[in-house]
Amino acid sequence: MSPMRGLTTLKIWVVPRGEYMLTLKARGVLVDGSLNELREELCLTRKAIQYIVDALWELDKLPTLNQLHQMFYKMLRNQGFRAHQCKQIYKYARALVKSTRENNGKKPVLRKLSTRLDRYDVRVDLENRIVVVKLRDKVFRIKLLHNKDYIRKFLRRKWYEVIVSIDKQGRIWICIPFRWEYNPYKSKRLFSIDINLKKVVIYNGRRVRRIDTRFTEALYLKHLAEDVQKRHSYAWRRNKKWLEIIRALHRKSRNIVVDWSRKFAKYIVLKAKSTRSAIVLEDLDKLWFDASRKSSSLADKLSRFAYRKLQQAILTKVIEYNVPVIFIDPRNTSSTCPRCGYKLSYNHRLAICPRCKFIADRDEVGAINIYLKAFKLLAPCLGSWGTHSMTDETRPKSGCKIDEPMTIHIKTYTSI
Ligand SMILES: [Zn+2]
Repeated sequence: MSPMRGLTTLKIWVVPRGEYMLTLKARGVLVDGSLNELREELCLTRKAIQYIVDALWELDKLPTLNQLHQMFYKMLRNQGFRAHQCKQIYKYARALVKSTRENNGKKPVLRKLSTRLDRYDVRVDLENRIVVVKLRDKVFRIKLLHNKDYIRKFLRRKWYEVIVSIDKQGRIWICIPFRWEYNPYKSKRLFSIDINLKKVVIYNGRRVRRIDTRFTEALYLKHLAEDVQKRHSYAWRRNKKWLEIIRALHRKSRNIVVDWSRKFAKYIVLKAKSTRSAIVLEDLDKLWFDASRKSSSLADKLSRFAYRKLQQAILTKVIEYNVPVIFIDPRNTSSTCPRCGYKLSYNHRLAICPRCKFIADRDEVGAINIYLKAFKLLAPCLGSWGTHSMTDETRPKSGCKIDEPMTIHIKTYTSI
């Protein structure tokens, strides 16, 4: 009955080596073809996908790809879509219906102007930062506006599809998911990161470092948006000006979180690489996505969002730079004494151990405990770094590799 049998109580997860997808995302400008024509093509594609979604939604059982081909290929061809475009259209419609049903959602209504193209209908020339897409009988040459270094990272890597879209501001976006081999190095040290709304705390086994986040700024903007909504009770829904203001505040808030997370992720991952360290993080999904704990306060919602974005950003960067990352079970990281394991008492943010008199700031305790949870399991792998003043771990003679220890339960992250 027990699903836990066979696993140790102390659990950590690693991102396994293997193949992942990293996406090149860049704005584009047309060098050949008109924006109106491109928009028209995307509208037509959206219409076709929606038509198929509507049709599939009526069916109890989803048709196979072969059946879809029988049902829709001819009709799509008659509208001028290219052979592979047709396939992309019904494949995407099917996937959309399938995933919506699995999540018990309502019938999907497509709003975004975007289309997926496979290699037969698009040419990607990263050296010159040009993407040429063929939609029906039209050809569009799009120049990627991202900087050269960013684009160069993806040179000579494999890709399967290109997503072209136009946003509300009329800007063109190109997304290309690339295959990426993740092969993390053997780490010599660890450093842990404890993430709060106000700051992240980093611990390398010796020193604690704090870095201010910009998440409280993002939270402030959310509060402003809420204030506007409250002040105008329900009227804001119908008032274009207020609606625009509220949307802009949410957008700004989101951008702050995403930008800061990316910057921090890059900083921390390069830092880890330069010291041959593995990064240790709490796996907060379990705590936060537990329905019983889900809170709807703005601060909690933003924390969840920020943590998810930061985790995503770190995962993307570790895969890019082959840095090992370890997730630990977040339970009790701020409530137990890092030195003796006794339950801590708190005086505001100051943690005190009634048994061994250990005293530290709350975030320090979190970062140290996160570090120790991974450290206790991995000490034998860390060579001369495998000792720590707060544990009794002694180093066994036999070495082991950090990515293949016996007690590690692997949770797979298939794509990011
Ligand atoms: Zn203690």
